[in-house]
Amino acid sequence: MAESDLLTSDGPRRIAVVSMHTSPTASLGQNANGGLNVYVREVCTAFSDRGIATDIFTRKQSPDDPGVESLAALSRVIYLPAGRPLDKYSLYDEVPAFAVRILDFARSEGLAYDLLFSNYWLSGEVACLLRPQLAAGWTHIAHTLGLVKNRTLAAGARPEPALRIRVEREIAHQADLLVASTNDEAGDLVGAYGADPEHVVVVPPGVDPSMFQPIDREEARRKIGYGSGRLLLFVGRLERLKGVEVAIRALALLRDRRHDDVRLLVLGEDSRDGDESEMVRLKTIATELGVRDHIDFLGSVAHHELPFFYSAANVCVMPSYSESFGLVGLEAQACGTPVVGSDVTGLRSVVRDDVSGYLIDGHEPAAYAERIGRLLDNPELAVQMGRRGRLLAQRYSWRRTADRLQDLFEGVVERAQVRVQATARHE
Ligand code: UDP
Repeated sequence: MAESDLLTSDGPRRIAVVSMHTSPTASLGQNANGGLNVYVREVCTAFSDRGIATDIFTRKQSPDDPGVESLAALSRVIYLPAGRPLDKYSLYDEVPAFAVRILDFARSEGLAYDLLFSNYWLSGEVACLLRPQLAAGWTHIAHTLGLVKNRTLAAGARPEPALRIRVEREIAHQADLLVASTNDEAGDLVGAYGADPEHVVVVPPGVDPSMFQPIDREEARRKIGYGSGRLLLFVGRLERLKGVEVAIRALALLRDRRHDDVRLLVLGEDSRDGDESEMVRLKTIATELGVRDHIDFLGSVAHHELPFFYSAANVCVMPSYSESFGLVGLEAQACGTPVVGSDVTGLRSVVRDDVSGYLIDGHEPAAYAERIGRLLDNPELAVQMGRRGRLLAQRYSWRRTADRLQDLFEGVVERAQVRVQATARHE
């Protein structure tokens, strides 16, 4: 295909979204399914409302996955075979074949795309291979960066391999536009990966304000089956990075200090980022500490049910070792729940220390127990912090995220068109 054939009409935009390793339709809080999936789903739905069509290419993970599934009026998910490896690193070997299948699909449907939008490093590598055949312009969002994760690994966590970092560096140099969720991530793309600052933009993710809003605590507790005791909440994929062990150790300390009605609810399932089950490890630690009976591991819960859990909880706990953003913190705040989390870059952009919760330097359980205890002992303070968190959360919405992306994507498409026309003139 000649590059000039890539120019689509001035009509509605059509974007090829690559989300190779996980699907926006997957159940959240298990395997690798978390913030990235929510992001792709929400952005593509908001684009559809604006008349922008998206085809989201993901891998078939089970024989039950359909060929094509509708996500919104103008958004569909296309499931293509890409082996069925359990380990995301071995998925890298499937990248060339997956890219060819995307091209074959587009050709068979006679489709042209204005832009490639890749999510996560594996999809970035797919986009690297597809450009320029599939679309002239390419925007990438990393969601997390290997070098950043490796800086603050939890004990026993597997470091991200050199392969990932090499691929991320290649993407940072080649994509037309790199979307970062925070200023810190933008700084890392430039400082650690050598991206051109002109190609890096910060667009924070969002939250759905109509879904995540405070619900009367008693009503929320009735709905999820809890009574009057005090509740701590953890929400997320279970892997070492999320630091759930710290929350369990903090709970044990709180119970030693006469907070004996406190329970911890753990929502989410094993991320299976290795051979070990984090859930089994956490249950063993809880048993050793004598708090197993005070923790409920509730498995993954549907996104739309989470407002009941956030509203039922006295405190949302996020002791993560790294977070590129931390949608859970934003969702908790949108429901008026204070957050006690680690002072890592992503959470710093969501939670304000001493305003909407507490950010703690390091992972010392006693420090978490102390801050959580402050909020449990002073319900008025917790209400105030919850109220302020809600105000902070009102600055974010998926609509706002999509507005900003739409503007930026338009710029990438226009510059790509100029580039293609100039190349065609010289040929
Ligand atoms: N989530 C969910 N159900 C669960 C666990 C998690 O819906 O049982 C959602 C959660 O509400 C959030 C996302 O998964 O929207 C996790 O995003 P976050 O940015 O906190 O973490 P990540 O997965 O990106 O590390």
